[in-house]
Amino acid sequence: MFVVKTPLIGLVDHVNTYVMKANDEDIVIDAGPDLFLSIMALRKNMKKLNVRLDRSLFIATHAHRDHIGATQKLAATSKVYIGYNELRKLASDEGQAREVLAFAVENGFPKHLAKGIIRLMLEVRLKDSLELVPLRDGDVLELGHYKLKCVETPGHTHGHVCLYDQDKRVLFSGDHVLRDITPNISSWSYEEDSLSAYLLSLKRLRDLDPIIVLPGHGRPLKDLKKRVQELVNHHEERLLEIIEILKVRSGDAYWISSKVKWKTQHPSWRYTSILYKWLAFGETLAHLNFLAKLGVVDRKVVKGKTIYQIVDVDATEVVKKVVASLFFSTP
Ligand SMILES: [Zn+2]
Repeated sequence: MFVVKTPLIGLVDHVNTYVMKANDEDIVIDAGPDLFLSIMALRKNMKKLNVRLDRSLFIATHAHRDHIGATQKLAATSKVYIGYNELRKLASDEGQAREVLAFAVENGFPKHLAKGIIRLMLEVRLKDSLELVPLRDGDVLELGHYKLKCVETPGHTHGHVCLYDQDKRVLFSGDHVLRDITPNISSWSYEEDSLSAYLLSLKRLRDLDPIIVLPGHGRPLKDLKKRVQELVNHHEERLLEIIEILKVRSGDAYWISSKVKWKTQHPSWRYTSILYKWLAFGETLAHLNFLAKLGVVDRKVVKGKTIYQIVDVDATEVVKKVVASLFFSTP
């Protein structure tokens, strides 16, 4: 098995493309984005590894552009495996941009900035010619001496999947578990509760016992249980931080995003890039939806803007209890 660092332009500088030599077909997990530079690098690396892209089988852990984009260009005659729910979501996303724009503006994101970024973020249109094969939870792909079991892990995206080779005890975690950064969890409607989905998906990994976890970006990791605990703690801290912000005053989601202490190299919110602001805003909304669903935060519309306010004085205790019960109770 090989890992190829396919270059990216954006918040992270590469995506990890995993390549396995099976019998008749080679396997490529997360081919990377559809950028000229990435595709050139990938082609060069595949040539070095003697991988024939025209007879390879592709797997995408999810449909974000930096993971699946290149597949459009490289997999013209190949099968592309992707989560069943991810495929369904892609099909239903037609025309979603307008709804997301209205939602973002209602929640305070500047309209002139939102338009461009939505186009960039949502435009994943897969070619009709691709042979897309849906992967469902528990499906096992037997390819040469690899046996990859699909584990549905919604949260980072609606239909994200991890792949686990039980015999070799290797987990391909996509963007569900990363070592160097925390995966982005965003919500783009009032109903979408991505954070609950994500925490429950972390819980789903509890029974796996990998000796190595191979993520979509950054370095591999060995101690999955420890990393999962760190990720749960991170989101609990973020929820509590947002409660503290709202205790001082109510505000819209964009304003709340600007008050959260993000781990970024930008000197201040004012000098933060639009892409980062967008991701921070989406993540704030995921946390606000979680708090609203718990009933500790309320929404009201003031002059066309959605304002969030604290309604439960014991919000901190409620959140701690719920995160603990969500994560530590038996299913
Ligand atoms: Zn992603």
